[in-house]
Parts: sequence; structure tokens; C-alpha cells
Amino acid sequence: MPTTRFAPSPSGLLHIGHAYSAWFSSQASQDGRFLLRIEDIDQTRCRPEFVSAIFEDLAWLGLSWEEPVRVQSDHFEDYRSALSLLSGEGLLYPCFCTRADIRASAIAPHGPDGPLYPGTCRALSSSERSERMERGEPYALRLDVEEAVQRSGQLEWHDEHQGVHSAQPELFGDVVLARKETPASYHLCVTVDDALQEVEVVTRGEDLFESTHVHRLLQALLELPVPEYAHHPLLRDEDGKKLSKRDGATTLRAMRDSGMTPSDVFEQMTSLVGA
Ligand code: GLU
Repeated sequence: MPTTRFAPSPSGLLHIGHAYSAWFSSQASQDGRFLLRIEDIDQTRCRPEFVSAIFEDLAWLGLSWEEPVRVQSDHFEDYRSALSLLSGEGLLYPCFCTRADIRASAIAPHGPDGPLYPGTCRALSSSERSERMERGEPYALRLDVEEAVQRSGQLEWHDEHQGVHSAQPELFGDVVLARKETPASYHLCVTVDDALQEVEVVTRGEDLFESTHVHRLLQALLELPVPEYAHHPLLRDEDGKKLSKRDGATTLRAMRDSGMTPSDVFEQMTSLVGA
């Protein structure tokens, strides 16, 4: 009876894809612990009214979760500690490049999260780093992935449906672990939280499958336990297109307002999964 979790970001109303993900996670707990986590570190996109909507919509669907709910924005201290551990190991460096600078480096190949960082700031001398920081130039903290992989050695993780995978965090390049406006990134928070909450099976959509490579590396660097993974197929429309938040008509709110019942939602979601 494992511990699982559903971890939505309150940057909009939940849609039918979230309903499937929450249901999948709750099923995977097999009457063990089913947790809910609010991933609201990006305070520029998240809003409190969407947090209350998450509670209401999930309860309407008939799901129940173990309290207390972990709200990431209450735990920046935990993420700071993880960052200082990595920084103490010499695995982080400040990066002063803007997103436009990175896009402009024309040769940059793409990774799962967008253009790969070409490593410009990895090569800065420590005096240049300090000078620019003292001048107040904004910077992000990036993980030196090559160095990190050298120290961790080859790693593996296991997906319940797709078997054993060799971790390939290099796919993402030197990932950002903190920014000025968001002092901890998705990759860092999710890894730290799954460990702190003792999650045993991480359930989430296949769109986040590749992120697991980075999470596995962070687990090794931070000496955290390694959970089992279960990535589920995404809900798709008739054209095979992934349903997204932009499809306002598929929000649970809109479905409920149109008179649908939770079992209608359930029926619809099972017909759309992997369609
Ligand atoms: N917060 C992420 C999202 O809403 C999910 C994170 C996860 O399950 O790992 O897409």
C-alpha cells in the first residue's frame, strides 16, 4: 500500500486531464496514503483562487487525500537548504544570461525544456562572478550537470509500465535550479518534496517522463531515497492532440456547470485516455 501524490500547480482551473492524473494517483495508492501537494513556487503564475478551486473540484470528483496538504510556497527554507548543499559541493554556478541571450545562441540544440544552455557562464572566473553579483546583476543558479554526473556515476530509475531506465540528465543541459523571481525550480522542489513526504510511487503524466532523469540525479546528489515511478498516458482529443489548460471547455468547472456528474467526467476521461 504505497504512498502516492497528486501535485497540481494552481495556475489555472483543473481540467479533465488533471482529473485523470488525480484519479490515477489515488488508485495507485491502493488504499495506502494519497497526498495532495500544491506546487505554487512560481508566484507570478499561481493564484489563491485556483488553490481553493483545486480542493473543491477534487472533492466534487469524490477524491479524498491525507491532510495536511503541502503547499510549496510555505517551504522555501527546505529548498534553500538543498541549494546550499549543492552549492557547498561546488555543483552550482551563477548564470547571468537572459532567456533572449540563450535563444540568440543560434547553435543551441533543444532539450525537453527548450533550448539547451550553451554553458556561457560556466566558464566565468570567480572574480567576474563576484563582481557581477555585487553590481546587482540578476542571475539564476544552474547545476553543472557534467560534473554532477561524473560524481554520481551511472544511475537508473524504474517506471512501473516502462521498466528500467538509465538516467540521462545531460538531455536537459545545465538546468536552472533557482531564479531571482522564483528561488527554487520545479525540478528541485519536486525532488525534495517527494522525499520529505516519503512518496513511494511518483505518479504523473508522460509529458514529465524525461524530467525524471534530472530528478534521479538530484536524488543522488542530495542523498535522497529513490521512489518508484508510474508515468501515465495523457488524455488526447479526437485529433490525437494533448488536452491542455487552454481548452477552457474541458475544465472540471465548465463540465460541472454544464450539468455533468462526476461519473460523466469519469466516463469521458476513460474514453480520452491514450485515444
Ligand atoms: N506541478 C506539476 C504540474 O502541474 C506536476 C509535477 C509532478 O507531478 O511531478 O504539471
